[in-house]
Amino acid sequence: MKIEEKKSIQDYTREELSQLIKPAFRAKQVYSWLYHKYVTSFDEMKNLPQLLKDELSKTYRISPLKIVRKEKSRDGSIKYLFQRDDGNTVESVLLLMKKKQFNEDGSIKHQEKYTVCISCQVGCKVGCSFCLTAKSGFIANLTAGEIVEQIRMIKKDNDIDANRRLNIVYMGMGEPLDNLRAVAQSSRIFADPDGMAIAPHRQTISTSGLSSKIVKLGKLGLGVNLAISLHAVDDELREKLMPINKAYNIQSIIDAVKQFPINDRKRVMFEYLVIKDVNDDMASAKKLLSLLNGIKSKVNLIYFNPYGGTEYKRPEEKDMKQFQEYLTKHGLHCTIRESKGLDISAACGQLRDNELEENGV
Ligand code: SAH
Ligand code: SF4
Repeated sequence: MKIEEKKSIQDYTREELSQLIKPAFRAKQVYSWLYHKYVTSFDEMKNLPQLLKDELSKTYRISPLKIVRKEKSRDGSIKYLFQRDDGNTVESVLLLMKKKQFNEDGSIKHQEKYTVCISCQVGCKVGCSFCLTAKSGFIANLTAGEIVEQIRMIKKDNDIDANRRLNIVYMGMGEPLDNLRAVAQSSRIFADPDGMAIAPHRQTISTSGLSSKIVKLGKLGLGVNLAISLHAVDDELREKLMPINKAYNIQSIIDAVKQFPINDRKRVMFEYLVIKDVNDDMASAKKLLSLLNGIKSKVNLIYFNPYGGTEYKRPEEKDMKQFQEYLTKHGLHCTIRESKGLDISAACGQLRDNELEENGV
């Protein structure tokens, strides 16, 4: 068997592994090596019998992705470019939400807070006109193991302790609900208390609004948070920005969201990418408010991040503020997404694009 043909051990939940590895308690040990110590070979799993280590390395692999590029931003965010076996690359970003702070006596006031933004596909079928990922079309679905590996490698690379709490957002490259099986599997693997123990309420799945799949995701009962990339409040504009709107219009998304089980302490996040002179007007803010009426929601306004060749422009700060103030004044939770990592290639898809250009692709 060639190495590429082996399945990654990270494709499996602990329950599945305990069916495959006997005696079953060994699965828990393997999980601990993988997700607490971030090992990259079976040989490092010191408390396993040699026979089992040999067997495992014959059957499975551990490193389905390799880090091919890393960019650090001044605010501490780090953008990673990972490569698969087939040579294709995907991005993930480690966002430092809060720096570690000390009290005057040297004791720790609060620990760092991390969020990791991960990818689930190479390219994307949805084809949004503002998105760089869409430009390459759809290339491949990532496996659950490849999704899991992004977090595992980033934790290893930054020496992030296994117990350090961290949030995950499926907001990198690709449409999570178009690869629902692998995404759901990765979510279960992340949540396992014997593994990374990233509780479902710390995971957010962002979608361009595949309404039927939103309902399906809700029925899976994973307990994850939902984010909807809305970006426009009327169907005509939304179709221009996001062709998927022809299949699933705004009302169908709102209806699907209303059926989605939401954690008592949480709200559905509506992402609104603000583009200058396209959707930054007050009439849109007004319509957004009425659309979300009756939904436990919050709005995240995102600055459009321009790149070479796009016709769209970054909005004015004053228009962003005005938009936000209108919504907050009327009782809607509304934040403006901090431009984390703006000095690196900020929005997802942009690091990969730089790499392709440099390689003349
Ligand atoms: N496909 C899913 C998952 C995230 S897509 C979705 O669309 O929800 C990646 C995120 O990057 C989306 O929130 C999208 O709005 C945002 N994005 C894409 N292009 C951008 C750009 N040029 N500037 C800022 N954000 C962008
Ligand atoms: Fe795909 Fe999301 Fe980009 Fe739209 S914004 S093309 S859904 S990755």
